[in-house]
Amino acid sequence: MHAARRVTNRGPPGGGPAAEGRLRVEPWLARNLCYRPATWLRGEPVFRLLRRYESSQWWSPERLREEQESALGALLRYATERVPYYRRAAAEAGLEPAALTARDLDRLPLLHKTDLVSHAGDLLAPQLPGTTSWKTTGGSTGEPVRVRKNRSALAAEQAASWRSYGWYGIQPGDRQARFWGVAFSRRARWRYRAIDFVLNRRRFSAFGFGRDELRAYFDELAGFRPAWVYGYASMLEAFASFCAAEDLPLAALGVRAVVSTSEALGLEARERIGAAFGAPVFDEYGCGEVGPILYECEQGSLHLMAENLFVELAPDPTPSEPEARRLILTDLHNRAMPLIRYDVADRVVPAPPCGCGRGLTPFRRVFGRAYDFIPAADGARFHGEFFLYLLEAARDRGIPIRQAQFVEAAPGSVEIRIVPAPGYDDEMGRALAQELAARSEGRLRAEARVVDEIPRERSGKIRLIRAKSATAPAATGPPTRGA
Ligand SMILES: [Zn+2]
Repeated sequence: MHAARRVTNRGPPGGGPAAEGRLRVEPWLARNLCYRPATWLRGEPVFRLLRRYESSQWWSPERLREEQESALGALLRYATERVPYYRRAAAEAGLEPAALTARDLDRLPLLHKTDLVSHAGDLLAPQLPGTTSWKTTGGSTGEPVRVRKNRSALAAEQAASWRSYGWYGIQPGDRQARFWGVAFSRRARWRYRAIDFVLNRRRFSAFGFGRDELRAYFDELAGFRPAWVYGYASMLEAFASFCAAEDLPLAALGVRAVVSTSEALGLEARERIGAAFGAPVFDEYGCGEVGPILYECEQGSLHLMAENLFVELAPDPTPSEPEARRLILTDLHNRAMPLIRYDVADRVVPAPPCGCGRGLTPFRRVFGRAYDFIPAADGARFHGEFFLYLLEAARDRGIPIRQAQFVEAAPGSVEIRIVPAPGYDDEMGRALAQELAARSEGRLRAEARVVDEIPRERSGKIRLIRAKSATAPAATGPPTRGA
C-alpha cells in the first residue's frame, strides 16, 4: 500500500497559503547538502549504517541473533573491564571479564531507572570513546535521568529510525511536520531551529494549543506541504479531530505517512488520525535512554531494532494480557555509558513471525505510560511535555528539586508539588509558578507546594501530570526526548 503512495506528489488544493515566506527546501538538497554533511561533521556515520540496516532487516532471525550475540559478548567484556559499576558487578558474580560471552548476560544484575541516578558516575566509562553527548530522558516520572552516548551509538539510533521510516516511503530530507515540544531557553531554541533546518522539518508546538493555534497550524501545513507528519499521539489526535470538525481539507495535502510516538495510540485515535490526514498511521516506540526500540511495519507488527538492542523478556502478565512480558534491553553500541539489562518498565506482547519477511523480532503490542493534558479555563490544553520542559529548565538554572508533580486543582489552575533537594527555598517555588503562568500566556494559574513525597500510582509509577479527567490510555511507551 505504501509502495503505491510513495510516488505520489500531489500539490495542495489551490496552492494553500504560503508559510510567511519561509524557506521550503527540496528533499534531495536537504538530504545531501544539509543532513549528510551535518552527520559527517558530527562524526556520526548515519548513512553508512543506514545502508547496512536496510539489508540486515532481511536477514534471518538466526543470523541477526548471531550478530547480536557477538556484539553483546564484546560489550560485556568492554563494560566489565572498564566501567566501575560493571567491574564490581562482575567481581560480585565471580565472573572473569576477559572470558565473558553473551551467555553470561543473565549473571549481571538488572539495571533500573533509579540506578541511572544513584550510580550515574559509576556507569560512565572513565575514558570516553571520542566525542559524546548527554541525553535527558524519562520525564514522565517527574524525575528525569541523563544518559551519556558516544557518536556511533547516536548514529546507530538514527540509522535504525531512518531505515524504519523507509517502510513508510520516507527518506532523510523529506519535509516533516513535527508536532512536538518547543524549547524554553533561547539557546536551546536556536539549537532546535538549526536541527530542524538540517532535517527539513517544521515544528508545531504541542505544548499548549487552542482553536486559534490549531487553525494556524493547518494554514501553515498547507503552505509547507510535508511528506510526513510526526508527533505525540495525543496531539495528532487533537489536531485531526479539530480539522475534521472544521471541515479543513487535511487529506488533500498529500501527506504520505503519519508517525505517532511517545504515547499510547489507541485504535480509535489511529482511525481518526488516518482518516483526517488521508494517510496510513504508524506507531513508533522508544525511549531516550536507548533510542528507538520498536517500529510498526506495513503489516502491523512492531519490530525490534535488533541491530542496536538485545532484548530479554521476563513474564509479567496483566489481567487483560496474560502473554505480556517485561522488556529488558541491552544497548549494543553505547560505550560511553553502557546500559546492560536495562528495565524500561514497559511491557510488550510477543507476536508470531511477521508476513513482511523481516527478521527483526516482532511484537503485537507495547504498553507503558502516557501523559495527561491539563486544560486551561478557555478550553486550550497543555501537554505533559510542557510541564516537563518547564521542570527541566528550572533544574538547568540550578533550582534544587528532587521530584515534582503537576496537579490540576481546577480548570486552569495547577498545583506544583515539589519534593525539595538541599538549598531549595519557597521563593524558588513561587518563581517556578510564575514562570508556568507566563509560559502559558496567562491561561494557567499555578501555585507551588512543598511535600515530603509524591505518592505512587497503583502501577507503582510516579506520574508527572495528574489531570482531573485522567486521559491516559493504556498502550505504547515512554517518550523519546531530545530535539
Ligand atoms: Zn513485519
